[in-house]
Amino acid sequence: MIRFADSMKRCYHTAETSIALIVSTAINFIYPPTCLLCDQEITALGHGFCESCLSKLKPAVLLECPRCGAPVGPYTDLASGCGQCRRESFAFDGVIRLGVYDGQMRLASLRAKASGGGSLARGLARLLVDQKRATFHTSGFDLVVPIPEHWTRRFVHPHYAAETISRQIARSLNVRWNRKILIKSRRTPKQATSPTPLRRQQQQGSFAVARKGPIAGKAILLVDDILTTGSTADAAAKTLKKAGAAHVIVAVIAVSPLRK
Ligand SMILES: [Zn+2]
Ligand SMILES: [Zn+2]
Repeated sequence: MIRFADSMKRCYHTAETSIALIVSTAINFIYPPTCLLCDQEITALGHGFCESCLSKLKPAVLLECPRCGAPVGPYTDLASGCGQCRRESFAFDGVIRLGVYDGQMRLASLRAKASGGGSLARGLARLLVDQKRATFHTSGFDLVVPIPEHWTRRFVHPHYAAETISRQIARSLNVRWNRKILIKSRRTPKQATSPTPLRRQQQQGSFAVARKGPIAGKAILLVDDILTTGSTADAAAKTLKKAGAAHVIVAVIAVSPLRK
């Protein structure tokens, strides 16, 4: 009887999959998929980018500092970070990123952040996971957490790129996602307008955790869209570590090319 029920379930599942495939093929025929960045028609959905955009979004420089994500030359000694981060102290244990905030990547990141940028943010997150799958799997995460924004900002900007990106990364990696465990407890000024030491000062103590239970002893992937000075990620990681996180790695779409 159980076997019969199982085989019926499999039949339903196969039928559902076939129907979904037929529906998506019909939709693609009527509305052919277009590139998330340049609107050019594309043949297969994949990440959602055309070949030309994809080649510009994939990192041109292959080597990067595992501690801060900065692009580095082939003979750089990375034992204690690179020239950009060696003197900095970070509470996070490393950075995984797709590219450098420049050219087409800068344009894509800005559009992903803007209102209506949800699909593009998800496409960039899928591309990041695909490009760095081995690194994500080697690290092995228990929980994916976005760097939160203060609740008052939600009224002005309902779309929040870090949240969308983190959710897609969690889905792609099949890791638990929690957007409420880390909280922005205090509003901080816009980052771009402040010099680095001031940014650090402003960010420290601006995060809190809702509960320590889901964080204690866990390896956490902390997600944002862009890493500029690392001050925000540092303050957020510090809060997670204080709550008992064993390991915090930051994942972003792009890192700023120069962080001084
Ligand atoms: Zn394109
Ligand atoms: Zn570095």
